[in-house]
Amino acid sequence: MSSPNSEALFHRAKQLIPGGVNSPVRAFRSVGGAPFFVKAARGATLITADDRELIDFVGTWGPAIHGHNHPVIKAAIAAALEKGTSFGTPNPSEVEMAELIVRFVPSIQKVRMCNSGTEATMSAIRLARGFTKRDKIIKFSGCYHGHSDSLLIKAGSGALTHGNPDSAGVPAAFARETVVLPYNDRAALEAAFAANPGQVAGVILEPYCGNVGFIMPDDGYLAFLRRVTAQHGALLIFDEVMTGFRIARGGVQERENVVPDLTCLGKIIGGGLPVGAFGGRAEIMDLLAPLGPVYQAGTLSGNPLAMAAGIAALKLLDELNPYARLDALGRRLRDAVRSAAKAKGLPVQVPQCGSMFSIFFTSAPVRDYDTALKGDAKLFGRFFHGCLERGVYLAPSAYEAGFLSTAHEGAAIDRACEALAEAIRDL
Ligand SMILES: *Cc1c(COP(=O)(O)O)cnc(C)c1O
Repeated sequence: MSSPNSEALFHRAKQLIPGGVNSPVRAFRSVGGAPFFVKAARGATLITADDRELIDFVGTWGPAIHGHNHPVIKAAIAAALEKGTSFGTPNPSEVEMAELIVRFVPSIQKVRMCNSGTEATMSAIRLARGFTKRDKIIKFSGCYHGHSDSLLIKAGSGALTHGNPDSAGVPAAFARETVVLPYNDRAALEAAFAANPGQVAGVILEPYCGNVGFIMPDDGYLAFLRRVTAQHGALLIFDEVMTGFRIARGGVQERENVVPDLTCLGKIIGGGLPVGAFGGRAEIMDLLAPLGPVYQAGTLSGNPLAMAAGIAALKLLDELNPYARLDALGRRLRDAVRSAAKAKGLPVQVPQCGSMFSIFFTSAPVRDYDTALKGDAKLFGRFFHGCLERGVYLAPSAYEAGFLSTAHEGAAIDRACEALAEAIRDL
């Protein structure tokens, strides 16, 4: 009997799972069409339930910096599996993981493991509030920090007003504690501090944005945030769930030489299993239970299988130091898209750094949420399907980043460049 194809699986999934998916962007709503199911993946290749092979630039949304099913990570999980899947006690691999994170990430003196990026940011916010004894937080439109209540907030009508819930089910009272500002706008931040004197617990951001497409900060912006938060006694929280161990081994903070008070991690540090972490200065981290009054916990936190996978992934990065090579591959993709668009007379922006990139069909540089939204999403949808037909899988949204992995060989990049260029030619 042949195994069910994507169409049959999606039909069944829709009867049982809201929208047929366990995370909304997988549903292809923003590019149209129905999602494909993946039955296996190895290296840079996904194998769909329809037996197609796709060159993957989504990398399970960031974690797969070594590609899929890397033999070293697989072996580490297998070895851990022999010993047991969960103990509910401290286990040796948690210590090794903490040592690796503290060694690599400049801001982190102590770290607490959890199970997702959402848990990491939610807990970091609680900790910032507990440490400063203040309630308000500042975030930036277009930055995504997982789906906890305080962080699912979009900008209100004026930058100085509190935000509005970005989701049904988030009380307006929670949104009042979150101020939402445009990214890369220095005056807006200074005005927000002036309007909320002594009330801001922390400023949280993706130091390089990856969730509204890929956007980098203006020169000096991160140093400016560091200065202004310190001046107002607010904590600077870098959400490096996506950029940690990807932009550089020590994340954006290493590359930009700006040290936040707290850092959130996830994705890569789980090696493909569900993991999050948050860490920072010891004096702040020691406020966490059981030492201090800020409560945070997790039945499966520090899970030995997840730690084994994550440790293997981090050690591989340390060993390979792949960042220069990933950047060279990223530039090739960027240049291929730029020259194809130029030949076609199509405006395009391709922000890229290392293994992260985005393709915006717009003529103006993309530096915040508003300019990202100027990208032609309809055109992107057609481009996405043109790539998919040619065997290249980009994120199914105009507002997501693309990811390269160490498993992307030169030949795969050549084929991908060709496919992207052809897809643009056919738009
Ligand atoms: C993915 C992501 C999150 C949420 O992580 P989950 O593991 O999906 O909960 C938070 N912040 C950033 C920057 C992310 O990219």
